Amino acid sequence: MAYSYDTENIFAKILRGEIPNDTVLETEHCLAFRDIAPQTPDHILVIPRGAYVNFDHFVTEASDAEILDFNRTVARVCKEAGVSPDTGNGYRVITNAGPDSMQEVPHLHFHILAGRNMGALLV
Ligand code: 5GP
Repeated sequence: MAYSYDTENIFAKILRGEIPNDTVLETEHCLAFRDIAPQTPDHILVIPRGAYVNFDHFVTEASDAEILDFNRTVARVCKEAGVSPDTGNGYRVITNAGPDSMQEVPHLHFHILAGRNMGALLV
């Protein structure tokens, strides 16, 4: 499947510095920042700097270095927020892809949700 990437999406603008964000962590290939409308006390988004619409697009076309950095960044954000499973608090990681998921921003992002009991899986 060929993906078409909209360079005017809101996260592309954040990556270009055209819109401010509350940065949590920056790496060579990724940016982590707080969600503007948090669903939990800690709601952090991790995005690749590359132009990928969703997770399928990313794992199909990104380099191994980008994929490794993305996974490590997600893990670091969880740990640095103090929500490692080792602390007893825990977290939830979600990514939406495509219309049925209600994906709003067409640039891959993982939601890291933490800071309260989230109950059963959200649907
Ligand atoms: P999606 O529904 O695409 O999985 O999630 C998009 C997320 O991006 C939502 O949780 C929404 O609150 C967040 N969001 C949308 N616009 C902005 C923005 O300008 N800044 C930040 N930090 N988050 C945004």
